[in-house]
Amino acid sequence: MPAKIIDGKKIAEKIISEIRSKVKNMKEKPGLALVMVGSNPASEVYVNFKEKDSKEAGFYCERHNLDESASEMDLLNLVNQLNNNPKVHGVLVQLPLPKHLDEKLVTDAILPHKDVDGFTAVNLGNLLSEKTILAPATARAAIHLIESTGTKIEGKNAVVIGRSNIVGKPTAMMLLEKNATVTVCHSRTRNLAEYTRKADILVVAAGKPDLVTKDMVKEGAVVIDVGINRSGDKLVGDVDFDSVKEIAGFITPVPGGVGPMTRAMLMENTLKAMELSSKLK
Ligand code: NAD
Repeated sequence: MPAKIIDGKKIAEKIISEIRSKVKNMKEKPGLALVMVGSNPASEVYVNFKEKDSKEAGFYCERHNLDESASEMDLLNLVNQLNNNPKVHGVLVQLPLPKHLDEKLVTDAILPHKDVDGFTAVNLGNLLSEKTILAPATARAAIHLIESTGTKIEGKNAVVIGRSNIVGKPTAMMLLEKNATVTVCHSRTRNLAEYTRKADILVVAAGKPDLVTKDMVKEGAVVIDVGINRSGDKLVGDVDFDSVKEIAGFITPVPGGVGPMTRAMLMENTLKAMELSSKLK
């Protein structure tokens, strides 16, 4: 039987609409500040989406575009100003930054309770201590989509391909927290298929089109394709969707799977950041 397609777009729209209804009745609106340096075309698209989503959700949103040549001090000053702005509950600095800027230094300058991307050392550390406050949106999206299928994560063999700090590692940590047996594979893994074939849950975040093919997937597995790759004028994931859907139990499409859910999770994180800031007042 072919896999059921997990409609990330539909699930995300429902979440955004629930947030919108909640926000409508709020006197003070959740505030998100989006910071972009330079003019990376992919980043531009992502930041535009984030701005659109926050407006749709009824948030207060401000956008700051710094010139490609902005100094680290310019950026740190802006982050500091946003940290101190009571109208702003979430601060997001779009990555990647131009080469002359230290991404870790800049990310860690965001106050942890305003770090809606969940990339600061404090928030990533909180994932390890199972005291998650604000977790990376893409990892949250992957977990949400797995659970949307009705699959219980506990006790399952979960394989994550990719070990980046912003996707692979946090996703693996969250699966572990939910009691899966987790294997993390990466570019130096030998014989990838040996691991993926044992996966009840397979999360792929490598940025390599067609990395996962039908012969690498266990029958009935839940396959979450995080990858976004450009192929001509189309976007494709890391999974050979057409062949893998013949064997998987559930699969996310690209586009329309993890992407829209990540955006919805960012809106949820902003709402959460506002709740956190009111607790800290
Ligand atoms: P990254 O380049 O930082 O990390 C890629 C990881 O994949 C690395 O850990 C690397 O070891 C591993 N890898 C690369 N080639 C491999 C191979 N042949 N076999 C096994 N492992 C391999 O990328 P990232 O930031 O983690 O993003 C991964 C992908 O997810 C990209 O396509 C990115 O565009 C996409 N992404 C999507 C969303 C979304 O919302 N859908 C969000 C973030 C990233």
